[in-house]
Formats: sequence, C-alpha cells, structure tokens
Amino acid sequence: MSKQILVLAGDGIGPEIVAAAEKVLETVNNAFKLDLQWEHGLLGGVAIDQYGEPYPEATSEQAKKADAILLGAVGGPKWDQIERSIRPERGLLKIRSELNLFANLRPAILYPQLADASSLKPEVVAGLDILIVRELTGGIYFGQPRGIRELENGEKQGYNTDVYAESEIKRIAKVAFDLAGLRGGKVCSVDKANVLEVTELWKQTVSQEQQENYPNIQLSHMYVDNAAMQLVRAPKQFDVIVTGNLFGDILSDEAAMLTGSIGMLPSASLDEHGKGMYEPCHGSAPDIAGKDIANPLATILSVAMMLRYTFREETAAKAIEDAVGQVLDQGLRTADILSEGMTKVGTKAMGQAVVDVLNRTLK
Ligand code: NAD
Repeated sequence: MSKQILVLAGDGIGPEIVAAAEKVLETVNNAFKLDLQWEHGLLGGVAIDQYGEPYPEATSEQAKKADAILLGAVGGPKWDQIERSIRPERGLLKIRSELNLFANLRPAILYPQLADASSLKPEVVAGLDILIVRELTGGIYFGQPRGIRELENGEKQGYNTDVYAESEIKRIAKVAFDLAGLRGGKVCSVDKANVLEVTELWKQTVSQEQQENYPNIQLSHMYVDNAAMQLVRAPKQFDVIVTGNLFGDILSDEAAMLTGSIGMLPSASLDEHGKGMYEPCHGSAPDIAGKDIANPLATILSVAMMLRYTFREETAAKAIEDAVGQVLDQGLRTADILSEGMTKVGTKAMGQAVVDVLNRTLK
C-alpha cells in the first residue's frame, strides 16, 4: 500500500516554500519509486479563514490517516488580534499534542559553503553538526495548574507548573540515545538540577536509562546556563543534546542562529512509532511573503528528514541533502544567505536548481 503524506502549506511564505519542496519530493518519489502519495489540508490562518478555527476537524481526520505531515509555517499579523485560543499557533500546538509528537529533532548543521554567514568565527562553527532533541508535549508549556490569579493584597500573580513523569523522560531519552547511536555516540542531557526538582528527576532518569540500556553511548550532563554559554563558545563539542520543552525551545533557536540562517534548518516532530511532522524551523515570515524571495531549503531539507525518519529511505534522503550542497557549490543563494560573489536567486529558482541537480545525478 502506498504511504500517505499530508501537506499543510499554512500561511505567509508557507505556500511558496512548500511548493518548491513538493517538486523535490515528486522528483525523488519518481526516481526511487518510493510509492508516496500526498494530499493537501488547511492549518493555521488559512484554516481560520475557512473554518473559523486553526486546526479543524477535517484537517485532524487527514492528519490521523497520514504517515507523515509536511508543514510550511503558520501565523501572521492578519490573525494576531483574534482570541488567543483560536490563533494560528494554537493549531500547531493542538496537532502536535493530538498526534502525540513528543520528540522534536532539530539539527543545527552548518554547510561549509555558508561558514561566513555565522556570527561566530568560521573556525568555531565550520562543519558544525549538532542534533537537539527537545521534549515537545510536556513540561511547563502544558503543566497544570497555570494562569494569572489575584492575590489577597489585590496584586496579580502569574504561575505555571513544570512537570515531567519518569515515563515521559525515559521515552525522550531513548530517542536521543538511539539517534546518537547512528551519529557520534554522545548525548549531553541539559537540566537545571541544582535548582529545579523536576530536572533533578530528569537527570536521574536519563542516567538510569543510559546505564540500563545504552552502555555504549557516552552520556554527560550540563546545566542549561552553561549549555547556552558552551553553544556559543565551543559548539562542536556537542553531538546530540537532549532536554525538556522550555530549555529545548531556547537552546534550539540559539543553535539555529549559530548557522547564520534560519532559512536552512529543517525539523522533525515524531511520535513513538516514527510518524512525524516535518517543517522548517522558521516561521511564516509575513514580511517577505508572496515576493518569491524566501529560502525554500529548510523545507526541502525537511522532506529529506521525512524520508529518513518516517519512511526509512536513507538513500533518497541523502540524495536531497547532497543536491542542496551542490546547489550551494554552484554559488546560488537566496537573499537571506547571500554573500559577495554569489548569485542571487528567488524561491522558485532555488527549488528548481535542487530538482535539476537531482534529475542530473539520479538519471
Ligand atoms: P519568522 O521565522 O517568520 O521570521 C523571522 C525573520 O526571518 C524575518 O525577517 C523573516 O523574513 C526571516 N525568514 C524566516 N524564514 C525565512 C526564509 N525561509 N527565507 C528567508 N528569510 C526568512 O519569525 P517571526 O517574524 O517571529 O514570526 C512570523 C510569524 O510566524 C508569526 O505569526 C509567528 O507566530 C509565526 N511562527 C510560526 C512558526 C511555525 O509555524 N512553526 C514558528 C515561528 C513563528
């Protein structure tokens, strides 16, 4: 039976970058006879416009049936004033939690051709290849109780709850250890165990999992403040970083910026069975939407992650990543990664350049 993909282009630059990625998907699907099929659905602002909610029932039905989801990005100023509970970003949180996409994988890879785009010295970042594994459906973003209450003295007080059960920590630790086994064999678990009990349990549980089931993986622990510092001081010391929802949110953006362009970074959010949602790390970039200038490479590289992690098609995944490298070798750059002497191209031309390389190399 053919495998099903749900494509959710979303808002802003979403439709442009997803269109480029679909052409790449079509090319590898034909070349490798992958037997993938896909249909389109609505998420975010476009869904609000049509159904009055960001994650309508129709999309939920499609998402449950699909083996994998390719997402552009959601949100934009048009929907910023509507009630918080039905804003586009709520759709994103809902689909992640409904599908139990608890493991967020964010690679921070610096293509050597783009070493100058980083704000760090090229020798500190050239060849950088880190994978951040962030727990995505628990922790302080979902913990109860939460809210803003009024104290007896009339002052308002905001409060949230950071909670992790052992089972939640174990399953994300397993993902990190399994992935480290396919890479450099090292995991750094990030916590704040000196202050927060919830992360003290995190640290103990990750250690126990390593001792019982992953003796060949080298595990280290680091406090989050130190990890934030080490990421800019000597980022190449890391292989896989595993951490909770809040710390992961911050550290993965920091790691993304090390590479100089958010337009280059893909991500995956997986459930326990390998079903996943794949999307670029950036948002819907309303400031450049509809102008054919957005960088489609993060979305194209998200397709490569989808082939690797959900469909286990490593050769096809690698072919896409190599094609992106070759396009950069040709000197083609979208505006966000442009440097002197390079050729500026738009979204469509960049996508087509990747397709052309694939057509040439996969003949
Ligand atoms: P953003 O990532 O959309 O944009 C930040 C900056 O990076 C902008 O200058 C933008 O032009 C640029 N940029 C982003 N992607 C690019 C690309 N592919 N090529 C070239 N330049 C690119 O973040 P923001 O401006 O904070 O948010 C805009 C909207 O996106 C908001 O509504 C926000 O809520 C939403 N958002 C959505 C997601 C998601 O769908 N996963 C993630 C983050 C933000």
